[in-house]
This record gives sequence, structure tokens and C-alpha cells, in this order.
Amino acid sequence: MNSYQMYIGGEFTSGATTKMMDVYNPATGEVFAQVPEATRQDTQSAIAAAREAFDKGDWRHSTGIQRATVLFKIAAALRENATRLAELETLNMGKPLTESEYDLADAATCFEYFGGWATKIFGEVNPVPDNAISMTMKEPVGVCGLIIPWNYPLLMAAWKLAPALAAGCTMILKPAEATPVTVLELAKILDKIEELPKGVVNIVTGYGEVAGAELSENYSVDKVAFTGSTEVGRLIMKAAADTNLKKVTLELGGKSPNIFFADSDFEAAVEGALFGCFVNQGEVCSAGSRILVQKPIYEKFVEAMIAKTKMIKVGPGMNRDNKLGALVTTEHLERVSGYISKGKAEGADLVYGGERLGGDLANGYFVSPAIFAGVNNQMTIAKEEIFGPVASVIPFEDEAEAVAIANDSPFGLAGAVWTRDIFRAFRVVKAVRAGILWVNHMQPTYCEAPWGGYKQSGTGRELGRYGIENFLESKQVHINLNEGPMGWY
Ligand code: NAD
Repeated sequence: MNSYQMYIGGEFTSGATTKMMDVYNPATGEVFAQVPEATRQDTQSAIAAAREAFDKGDWRHSTGIQRATVLFKIAAALRENATRLAELETLNMGKPLTESEYDLADAATCFEYFGGWATKIFGEVNPVPDNAISMTMKEPVGVCGLIIPWNYPLLMAAWKLAPALAAGCTMILKPAEATPVTVLELAKILDKIEELPKGVVNIVTGYGEVAGAELSENYSVDKVAFTGSTEVGRLIMKAAADTNLKKVTLELGGKSPNIFFADSDFEAAVEGALFGCFVNQGEVCSAGSRILVQKPIYEKFVEAMIAKTKMIKVGPGMNRDNKLGALVTTEHLERVSGYISKGKAEGADLVYGGERLGGDLANGYFVSPAIFAGVNNQMTIAKEEIFGPVASVIPFEDEAEAVAIANDSPFGLAGAVWTRDIFRAFRVVKAVRAGILWVNHMQPTYCEAPWGGYKQSGTGRELGRYGIENFLESKQVHINLNEGPMGWY
């Protein structure tokens, strides 16, 4: 069994903690690694290391080329180690190996993309009316707490580390308690990069209520970038408000509508409905878990969904035949199963799946993908984020009703619309209040394009140029060009 240490101030350490946390393989229910359970004191040590590294200035005053070099080295090492890291991701998180391989490639691309930004951070000259030059200079925001969820462990780390490094920040990364392994493997990669000063990246493992809370409450942390549940996002914003008003960006939950009009390409649409909802076991913030289907094709659509879902193989992610892996933890399996029971109790029609799988799979956390038909938007399964392979198929009459249902949610992360009518597609894109809208597709995500939510799905945007802005402050500099006194007194 692998035993890991944390990474603080450029050293691998178990910190002051005496406790280790078990890390499970969700496909077997077996413990396959152990990591330290960081205390508040350990987290404070990591914050102090990041503060010292920031204040010392080697990193924040480094050139763009120097930072870009580091980012490209990280990307290259991720690509070199992609096979091993993808296997570890699947063993730790449960997702199919092919998906972990995509994630690894995406993570490397993310470091390359922000490596490009490191040399392109510059301010502007503001056209003020006086005999003066007003400039805006860009500077790193400072010490950053990066708190991430378990659904894309290494990729979510990359989304935050890469822009923070490119901007010249120093940081403390806290992975989710269930999935720390690939992030701690990344620490080994970082440690070998000589150009990266000690203390710029620190990694602590531990519980959200301890290590995560310390990051959001600590006065030496200038910014928290968080991805996770809306509930915890609220706590982080509150902690920031009650302490040093640190900057906060939040990427939170969703309940995204995937809208299918009767004129859409039927085969592509059915596949898009399943992919949108079941990829990564449905453990996706932008999962298209509300599948809105226009009435003339509703019955046929549900039947086609069932027929195709029957062909989805569920089982250990390490077996390449399996398209749907284990849910991340036994607690999460309980949670998802609870929603399935609630759907049935509230009168939705479970037309396929939704069962805990036994036999060879009994020790793992497997559930068959569930399709609920006859759902209305007021049911719990249509309102709350399930974060599992549970599809709610909701009928609608016309465009106005589809938009009204789509917007009837406290969330606003993403949505998709399927139609051959370009005018309708754009009307719906403009009418749905969400941060990401796809037309005739669902889920593709690019480092080059912004990601984030409206309403209770978060504040701010990651990726693209917004991603780098998140880790920069703007300083206005005024240079007086008039010689001599002002003549005011
Ligand atoms: P979570 O909110 O339970 O945990 C996320 C992280 O926050 C973990 O590292 C956890 O340890 C930490 N945490 C928990 N309590 C904390 C506290 N009191 N203070 C500080 N940190 C704390 O979420 P999860 O279960 O790991 O992930 C699932 C959620 O993440 C879903 O709601 C999903 O929609 C969301 N998510 C959003 C995006 C996005 O881009 N919008 C992407 C992925 C996941």
C-alpha cells in the first residue's frame, strides 16, 4: 500500500499530525493508499511557507519566460507519466480509464495553455484627460488557497494551479479527502523542477472542515479559489467575509437542462442526452441531468434512451470495456441511492436502472444508470444536484415552456439545446440563464474558453483569459507630467 506525505515548503512531510487517512479504491472497497490528515497547525505551516515564498519575491518577480518554463516542464512530466497517473486516477476515483486518460491530457494542456499566458500578462495605459500618464499594472493576487473536489482530481488541480503559477502567485492546494493520490504524485513532479522555488506550491491533505476551513479563515491567505458544492461555497464566502475579506471565486453545483426539440437529429440527440448525463458516472458539475424533451418525440426518445443505456457496461474503470465506473465513496453511493428512492416515492417513473449492483461488483460502489420518465420540474430529483448517473426526463410543449423550465432552478452552470433551427438555437441560448450553453452537443470544455456559473452555481470564471485574471490584481499608477507645484495653496 502506498503511503504519501504532504508537500510543504518544498519538503515532503507528515507535518504535526499523527493521524493518517485511508484512501479507497471505489471499485473494490479496499484501502489502497494512506495520506496524512492535516491539522490546523499543518495547514498554517503550509500557509506560512506560501507567504514567505510570496514575500521573498523570487517567484512573483520572476519573468514570464521563467514561469512559462516551469509550466511547460510540468506539462511535459504529466505527459511522460500519463499512463501511470491515469491508472492511479481510476483506482482512486473510479472513473473509466479512457476518461482518466482524457483528463491527464487535458491537465497537461491546461499547464501549456497557461504557460502561454505567463508571457502575455500586461496592463494598459488609461486615456485620462490631464497631463499625466495613467497606467494599469497587473500583479499577482498573492497567497492563494486552492480547494478542489473529487470528480476530476488532477484536472481540477490543474485548472487552479496553472493560472495561479502563471500569474506569479504562491499557493496551498487542498485536494478532496477521497481523492488525494494523483495530486500528491504531482507534488513529486513539482519537486524535481529546479526553477520552481520552494514554498511556491504547497499541498495539504485533510478534511474540509479543518484544512479547508483554515484556508478560508486565515488572514495570510489573499484569495481562495474553490470548486465544490454550493453548500461549502457559502461557508467559504462567509469565512472570507468574517475575516480578511480575501478574494473568492466559486465554481459550484448545477442542475443543467439539456433541451431536445422535435426537429433535432434523433440519433445524435439520444447519445447526447446519455453522454451529457452519464459521463464520469454523472459526477459532473455540468451534468445534463434535466433532460427536457419536446412532446411529439418524448415517448420514442425515452425508449431510445433505455435501449442505448442497456448497452452501457458498468464495472471497474480499469477494464476498458466498462463505460461507467464506480461512484466515488460508499457515502456518495448512499446519497445517490437516496435520491433514486425519493424519485420513486414522489411519483416519477423509474423506467431503467437505479440499482446497486451485486455479484462480482458487490464490494464496489456501483449503481446502474437510472432513467426517470414523467418527471416534473418540482420533484426533488429535478431540483437538487444528485451528482450521479440519474437522468430526469421532463416533457415540454413549446420553446417558451422549455425555457421556463430550464430557468426554473437556483443553479445556472450550464445547458444545451438540440435543434436544426439556428434561429431557435440562438433564442434559447440567449434566454437560458447559465454560464455555458452548448448547441447540438454537451460537455466539451476547453482551456481557451471561460467556465463558471450564473446564480447559485458560483461567482467568477475559470479558464480562458478570465482564468488568469482571477489570480491578478490591477494597480493603477499615475505619473504626473506637470513640473512644479500644483498651485492649489
Ligand atoms: P464539497 O463541497 O463537499 O468539497 C469540495 C472541497 O471542499 C473538498 O476539498 C472538501 O474537503 C472541501 N471542504 C469541505 N468542507 C469545507 C469547509 N467547511 N471549508 C473549506 N473547504 C471545505 O464537494 P465535493 O463533494 O468534493 O464535489 C462535488 C461538488 O463539486 C458538486 O456540487 C459539484 O457540482 C461541484 N463541482 C463544481 C465544478 C464547477 O466547475 N462548477 C466542478 C466540479 C465539481
